[in-house]
Amino acid sequence: LGHLTRLRTYQVERALVLDRTTRRNLELTETLREGRRKGSLLGVLDTTATAMGGRLLRQWLGRPLLDVAAVTARLDAVDELVGDPFLRADLREALKQVYDLERLTGRAAAQTATARDLVALGQSLRAVQRLRAMLGEVRAPLLAELAAGLNHHPDLADLIGRALVDDPPLALTEGGLIRPGYHEEVDRLRAARQEGRDWILKLEARERERTGIRSLRVGFNKVFGYYLEVTRPNLHLVPPDYVRRQTLANAERFVTPELKAHEEAVLGADERLADLEYGLFGEVRVAVAARAAGLQQTASAVATLDVLAALAEVAVRRRYVRPEVVEEPVLEIKAGRHPVVEVMLGEGRFVPNDLYLDTQDHRCLIVTGPNMAGKSTLLRQAALITILAQLGSFVPAARAKVGLVDRVFTRVGASDDLAMGVSTFMLEMQEVAYILHHATSRSLVILDEVGRGTSTFDGMAIAWAVAEHLVAPGPDGRPRLGARTLFATHYHELTQLEEAYPGVRNVTVAVREEGDRVVFLHQLVPGKTDRSYGVHVARLAGLPPEVVSRAEEILAELEVSAEATRSRLGSVAEAPGQAGAGAGRRPEDGAGGREAPGVEAVGPRGRRAPRPRVITQFTLFETRPNPVLEELRRLDLDSLSPRDALAKLYELQARLRREGDG
Ligand code: ATP
Repeated sequence: LGHLTRLRTYQVERALVLDRTTRRNLELTETLREGRRKGSLLGVLDTTATAMGGRLLRQWLGRPLLDVAAVTARLDAVDELVGDPFLRADLREALKQVYDLERLTGRAAAQTATARDLVALGQSLRAVQRLRAMLGEVRAPLLAELAAGLNHHPDLADLIGRALVDDPPLALTEGGLIRPGYHEEVDRLRAARQEGRDWILKLEARERERTGIRSLRVGFNKVFGYYLEVTRPNLHLVPPDYVRRQTLANAERFVTPELKAHEEAVLGADERLADLEYGLFGEVRVAVAARAAGLQQTASAVATLDVLAALAEVAVRRRYVRPEVVEEPVLEIKAGRHPVVEVMLGEGRFVPNDLYLDTQDHRCLIVTGPNMAGKSTLLRQAALITILAQLGSFVPAARAKVGLVDRVFTRVGASDDLAMGVSTFMLEMQEVAYILHHATSRSLVILDEVGRGTSTFDGMAIAWAVAEHLVAPGPDGRPRLGARTLFATHYHELTQLEEAYPGVRNVTVAVREEGDRVVFLHQLVPGKTDRSYGVHVARLAGLPPEVVSRAEEILAELEVSAEATRSRLGSVAEAPGQAGAGAGRRPEDGAGGREAPGVEAVGPRGRRAPRPRVITQFTLFETRPNPVLEELRRLDLDSLSPRDALAKLYELQARLRREGDG
């Protein structure tokens, strides 16, 4: 455990908090659906050259900073590397020569490093030396600090270079590790071994001549060692000093005392070398282990440098700009892009959008717009730009001013977590509850289609109340939460909040209708929409034509009756002070539809909060009350004996079944 050199504490308050749901929803390190890195923010950002840099970048993504000075320090460093393409290229080239110093040091400390590991470590230290030299004249304080931290441990690098061969074998116990000239005894043994080998090599020629056996051959095997092999027809030529060792089918093998002596020299040297070299290697490894702490600091400086260079590289490749990071709660993005979607779409196809949020008049943007218009993209883009800025990266925009955010919350789309025993809707509500309990005035809240997982009325009511909770003032007249909020919804009624609360703004993602085609412009404009073009998207998605045209028919009917009801009830709904006049009206009362309960709240400066203006949900076919149900409704259960109740139940069921058959 020698490489575990110290514990460092960290405080949650000192980093931007990203809860698990948010990290998942924003696809910071892996995609939501397939859990792949490609398609995540990390996938776009990670141009690091070392494994350590890759790991550190992942850490930075999970814990962006919460301190203007620290963010600025990183941004200054990235800025300098962006502005100096030669330095950046040189650094990245040298970084590629640095192996995983962190892991190598860990292995050395745990005494599990191989000779190859130490050689890699030595090479890395030489690359670190080059890195350090390159950073001689940097201006950004963070870069200068990192350069100073790049201790390349010259004595260690030198030791490894002198002691170990460049390409040692994997096995540590069979010799071949130590470089010639490093240790006298190793050199001497190797010379003796070589001498023995040479003598044996020459033996074949010598003996062929002496015995006249042209096919005589010197061989070696593990059991018998070196031998002289003579084929059967030549056995009569074998001299008397040959000692028989082994008989084969058509040859015999011999040794001579002289051969045995030389063999011993060779094999003995081999064995002693293996031991000696292993011992010497062990000493080098211990020397490295003793420096674990220092090596780890170097590794950390390399990793940081790698991440900064990678961020600079991405900034240049993808045309990111330096964000202005400030304390005040504001988010101002000019021509912002979604860092991942723009890459997926390809050059020039992403439509940039502006965005402005603060804690005053632009506290909450209600984003409406058709399906597929780009609402979710816009929401995530705002969160990702904020996170990028706070981790010290440039951002995909023409200009960006990012006020520090303490937490980013997201509730995006419907996602099941059946494994955890919660239904889709329950999970959605848990996430929303979490947000409402934890958001502060410095938070950024992203809500995408809250309330989608239940019936229209419940969903709308919840969405409305949640939005209101986020923007409405508390008892003291000041915003209760005041978090900067982006709220995308298909409940177009929510756009009415703009009239009631000064902090609420409606924006919509524009489309253009061309005949029966809808062109997605992906352009955010002020205002609202009251159409979702869902059926159009369904057609694009390849629903069978007959289903699409039936949906169009039904939609047309619904729209006509909604319009009719609206005009019939308009006077009621608009009448002040009569909120919820229609609430509780039952479907069979003849209106042909139901209304959501009126929602009433008092807006700031004494203004009346809007009531959702008559939201009508229609039954497709006029229905008359069922007599069986009517009877059931009227039954006085308390006056029935259990037996009568059972009889009644049989009767009612029989009637229902008859009706079904009829
Ligand atoms: P829904 O309401 O159906 O969930 P949405 O409005 O949230 O839809 P997104 O999922 O954000 O739509 O976007 C749909 C697709 O439109 C994206 O996958 C992307 O390919 C494309 N798109 C989104 N925004 C842009 C943009 N600004 N420029 C170009 N293409 C975009």
